Amino acid sequence: MNIKDKNLYYIGGVVRDEILGKPSFDTDLTYRGNAIDFAKTIPDIEILQINEPFGTVRIKSGGKEFDIASTRTETYPRKGHLPEVDKIGCSLKEDVMRRDFTINALAKSTLTGEIIDYTNGLEDIKNKTLRILYDTSFIDDPTRIVRRLKFAVRFGFDSDEHTRKLQNDYLDNINYDMSYKRLKKELVETFNLNKREAFEKFIKQRIYKLVAPVDFTLPEYDFENLIKMNLSNISQSNIWIIYVGLLPDISNLPLTKAENKIIEEFKKLKSTIFNNDFEICKAFNAAPIESVIMYSTVNHKTAEKYLTKLKNIKLTLNGKDLQNLGIAPNAKYRECFDYILKTKIPNPQMTKADELKLAKEFFNLS
Ligand code: ATP
Ligand code: MG
Repeated sequence: MNIKDKNLYYIGGVVRDEILGKPSFDTDLTYRGNAIDFAKTIPDIEILQINEPFGTVRIKSGGKEFDIASTRTETYPRKGHLPEVDKIGCSLKEDVMRRDFTINALAKSTLTGEIIDYTNGLEDIKNKTLRILYDTSFIDDPTRIVRRLKFAVRFGFDSDEHTRKLQNDYLDNINYDMSYKRLKKELVETFNLNKREAFEKFIKQRIYKLVAPVDFTLPEYDFENLIKMNLSNISQSNIWIIYVGLLPDISNLPLTKAENKIIEEFKKLKSTIFNNDFEICKAFNAAPIESVIMYSTVNHKTAEKYLTKLKNIKLTLNGKDLQNLGIAPNAKYRECFDYILKTKIPNPQMTKADELKLAKEFFNLS
């Protein structure tokens, strides 16, 4: 970014990531003053979006997009929901104090490159410590508890004792009137990392209680590897539901149609008794792969057998081949395919000619 101004700072994650030597997902900037007014004075940029109440502006410069926020203070009139802006154009120090952790409260001048550290964030990065900035932080915004988990797992950081105590205090007294949309966003980002460690901490530290006041214990089976092995068939944005969807109640979370289907199909598999490989194949072929991986917590041998072996047993014969035998498409097609599949499962080396022979047998053709 080549926009430089004495009042313009890189802020938050981007500064933290640079110090850690890690790539950043996005570049956040803050302007000490009114960012919208400032953006209008920058030559050769495009203003993409303005959010007047929050004093933020999205710009495009040199082919890249950046968010510039105005320095602002906030209050939480409804705890657990979006904050309200108190003052736009406050000091940089006031601005960083509304943030989540000291490691995310660093600013870096775009003009001089100087790092401004009002909260001892540099020291905490060095010591791999996640520390909140004020005592009622989790009450204002409990999604910070999940953000804590996300950063702990992503960077291998741990909380200071006081932060941990305040987290425990909050989890003993959760206010369930919160923004579940925001909570979901953090859960998605945390669990899409696909780390068993995140799941362990989520449960051991009782963070799952934020989703619903239920009891839940860590499933014995570790399916992190099953996810890794099947990544090409799983949408990256669905990994989280394989983990969080195992909770007995996630009805508070706003789910997409695809996410709901994953849960429904998992429940269906869970309540089915499978008598043989053919039944496993039929049921699992019809379910999203995410549901199959969730099923590994019910019976990992069955899920593994399906994913490593049964899933790959496919018929080479298709409807066209049956038509070529002179059979008009009808409901018997499906029965015929099932008949062949039953034979092919224990004999996966079967060729198309073998399948054709079975099809003829099925339809009593010579
Ligand atoms: P990531 O690398 O996942 O993007 P990030 O720290 O950059 O992590 P963002 O969600 O992009 O996180 O937010 C940018 C900055 O905004 C954070 O670094 C932090 O200073 C502040 N922030 C984000 N979410 C919260 C929150 N819930 N409460 C307080 N401050 C927050
Ligand atoms: Mg970011």
